[in-house]
Amino acid sequence: MAVREMSDHECIDCLKKSHVGHLACAKDGFPYIVPIHFAFGFEKLYVFSLPGQKIDWLRANPKACIQVEERSDHTPWRSVVVTGSYRELPDTSEHHNERVHAWDLLQERQLWWEPGSYKPDKNSSAALSPIFFGIVIDTMSGRRML
Ligand SMILES: Cc1cc2nc3c(=O)[nH]c(=O)nc-3n(C[C@H](O)[C@H](O)[C@H](O)COP(=O)(O)OP(=O)(O)OC[C@H]3O[C@@H](n4cnc5c(N)ncnc54)[C@H](O)[C@@H]3O)c2cc1C
Repeated sequence: MAVREMSDHECIDCLKKSHVGHLACAKDGFPYIVPIHFAFGFEKLYVFSLPGQKIDWLRANPKACIQVEERSDHTPWRSVVVTGSYRELPDTSEHHNERVHAWDLLQERQLWWEPGSYKPDKNSSAALSPIFFGIVIDTMSGRRML
């Protein structure tokens, strides 16, 4: 059993085939990490969310990290770590086309939006405005088991 580095091409392949990752952010010296659905779109990873802690923290400090992995009982694992910056896509004419693009990419995954719309003890989530954002990729690294 051995582990080797992945090329950028392999990292992108893994990001295209994966739907779920772990999004890390930090504020005031503290880390915070949650699972999210994402879609790869050229130089960004697109995510849908409702307002909450991760959005507050990413607005305060846009530096982010996403870790993604592929594994099953039958195939060797692959793992990719992306660092980048939070870029919100507000519902304005300037960002309209990119929001539609993000929506198109994300909705290829069935029920991708559901976990992002669940909040414990908050029944009015439908009234909250959904937030689309991208993590603009700065660095990317990958490792895989052989
Ligand atoms: C497989 C999967 C996919 C998901 N996909 C998305 C997605 O695409 N978009 C999205 O917005 N959300 C998604 N979620 C839910 C996400 O992980 C968060 O729970 C949710 O977004 C709320 O995060 P928040 O920072 O707004 O927390 P808030 O509702 O503001 O709550 C903050 C507090 O709740 C705790 N908390 C929040 N989330 C979790 C958690 N997952 N586990 C344990 N404690 C938690 C934190 O410790 C924090 O103190 C997904 C979850 C799973 C399991």
